[in-house]
Amino acid sequence: MPAGSERQRVLVATRNHHKLNEIRGLLAGLDIELISPDDVALATDPAEDDLEVHSTFVENALAKARYFHGRSGLPALADDSGLCVDALDGRPGVHSRRFAPEEPNGQAEQDAANNRHLLALLSETPAADRGASFRCALALVEYGRELTVEGRVDGSIAEGEIGEGGFGYDPLFIVPEFGRTFGELPEHVKAARSHRADAVRQLKDILTDCIHNT
Ligand code: IMP
Repeated sequence: MPAGSERQRVLVATRNHHKLNEIRGLLAGLDIELISPDDVALATDPAEDDLEVHSTFVENALAKARYFHGRSGLPALADDSGLCVDALDGRPGVHSRRFAPEEPNGQAEQDAANNRHLLALLSETPAADRGASFRCALALVEYGRELTVEGRVDGSIAEGEIGEGGFGYDPLFIVPEFGRTFGELPEHVKAARSHRADAVRQLKDILTDCIHNT
């Protein structure tokens, strides 16, 4: 823990500002400063694209946290997440970010292409068989310690995009309890019910301990 009243800084190991904002909101009550790679001038490196080569969310999250901890010297918290669709044997899973063929115009275009691709693959799948889950692994790497947790939320895939909120597959993911997608539900509902919220809840106590014992 730094001297004086300075808050412990934790680097959120992501270039995805949606994830960063969600994690910041979810951990808002803790006495830590969550910073992004940009905040400490860590330029994007092509090596970052080679970190998510593993077959599980946990391994990918660990790879990202280790990498950014190594580059920054700060405790690093990484999120690896995605959508697992029952009718597709769990795909896109760890390949969620680049499910559709690569779009050259950035992540928003890629997300839209991913959603079109998923809808096309499920075009013959009836509502009863459109079950899916969002998964999120979080990894915290700091001073020789490595911790991981996993969260999930179960739901189903809509027949078209509904709602403008959230990011990625949110407009396609129906939360059964509300019968509405994360794209149309208010932000505070996603913040309470998402796979990321589930994982963060598990990490919160561990993180609090880390801060007090560092
Ligand atoms: P990652 O950066 O490899 O973890 O990829 C995450 C990808 O999974 C994102 O680009 C989205 O396509 C999808 N994803 C993860 N979490 C969410 C979420 O909360 N809402 C919608 N899509 C998500």
